[in-house]
Amino acid sequence: MSQKASARTRAHWTLRPYAVGLVVTAAIVGTLAYRSASSSAPSFSEVRRDHHGGATTGVDGAVTEADGPLPDGVTVFDDQYPGVANLDPDLLQALREAATDAAHDGVEFFVDSGWRSPEYQDQLHREAVSEYGSEEEAARWVATADTSAHVSGGAVDIGHFDAVAWLSEHGAEYGLCQIYSNEPWHYELRPQAIDRGCPRMYADPTHDPRMQE
Ligand SMILES: [Zn+2]
Repeated sequence: MSQKASARTRAHWTLRPYAVGLVVTAAIVGTLAYRSASSSAPSFSEVRRDHHGGATTGVDGAVTEADGPLPDGVTVFDDQYPGVANLDPDLLQALREAATDAAHDGVEFFVDSGWRSPEYQDQLHREAVSEYGSEEEAARWVATADTSAHVSGGAVDIGHFDAVAWLSEHGAEYGLCQIYSNEPWHYELRPQAIDRGCPRMYADPTHDPRMQE
């Protein structure tokens, strides 16, 4: 790479975190605006609740806490829950460092959903297909057990709103990146983001090459 090209790359990467921050803010504001504009659209919290399923057992009663569902109020420090303890260790460490710093700002990180067993992910996927009426529409929100980063322990859905807002501003400093524009709460570890900022987001999971089975 020529010196000129590398300088250009640096400038590009320098601008990116700021641009991503703007996009995130726009996405959150857009979600809220959309919510108030259309009563039939799922709200921020409705969408989240739907995609995380019940906190205890599913419709068929087969999924238990050992499969990863979390009750309300679980934080990134609550190791006793498989949904937290089975997260990728590097992701969990980054989350805890970020949460410790966020606490100085009066912000607490809750985990709405973390690691999920394939059975739990299958259940969420079935529920999404039935709710949205088609595989295609459901795929914008819930991955299959074969493709979900939650099943490998590499993804976390963060609550509440103030924690999501804090992460959209500071997450890249810890390698924590929002991956999909339509899921402001879904974070994965991208260690290179610490130096370069987070990669460009996909509009939704259907644009993610990892979701192509
Ligand atoms: Zn997620």
